[in-house]
Amino acid sequence: MPKLTRGTKLVVASHNPGKVAEINALIAPYGLQAVSAGTLNLAEPDETGTLFASNARIKSRAAAKASGLPALADDSGLCVDALDGAPGIFSARWGGAKKDFNAAMARVQRELELRGATLPSDRPAHFVSALSMSWPDGEDQIFEGRVHGEVVWPPRGTLGFGYDPMFLADGEDLTFGEMDPAAKDAISHRARAFEKFVRACLG
Ligand code: IMP
Repeated sequence: MPKLTRGTKLVVASHNPGKVAEINALIAPYGLQAVSAGTLNLAEPDETGTLFASNARIKSRAAAKASGLPALADDSGLCVDALDGAPGIFSARWGGAKKDFNAAMARVQRELELRGATLPSDRPAHFVSALSMSWPDGEDQIFEGRVHGEVVWPPRGTLGFGYDPMFLADGEDLTFGEMDPAAKDAISHRARAFEKFVRACLG
């Protein structure tokens, strides 16, 4: 498998600014020239897969094919045990067309209440990130990372994006919405997937 060396142009195949910012921060020390799918005006493919990994692959492969460049995509989401893993691969879609994650977090809380899941011990959850690296020659590699914790209510903090204000990682006092971005990057699902990507594809 080829390696990404310093100066290589890499498409970050996402139209989600929060995610592009986190991936850019993770990539920055490696000297790659990151350019986002949005900047290149690449179309956003339909996420028709049933797994994080298959949706990540759809996005990275579409971007590599359209740009002729290596492309990296993340498909990620929040899986709540008491909701049988929901919102899971539908995490972005629970935000609706307006990407309203206050509404999406309220829905998680509502559905947990309907199931009587009110104690912290009833509310374990984890974030998953599947990173897919697609090469212009058609090869793909997948790397997965997870962070375990619980969902809290009410949401806390205004940092991060998506469901961050309602996620408390195991052993932490601050939610992802209250944590400094660097502290989140040190333990996040995306950072853990990224470590595997770095070992396989960089340097
Ligand atoms: P997609 O991978 O772009 O389909 O969307 C993933 C969705 O999962 C995001 O829109 C967020 O709502 C949620 N998500 C994924 N990673 C995180 C995270 O690090 N913090 C908060 N929410 C996240």
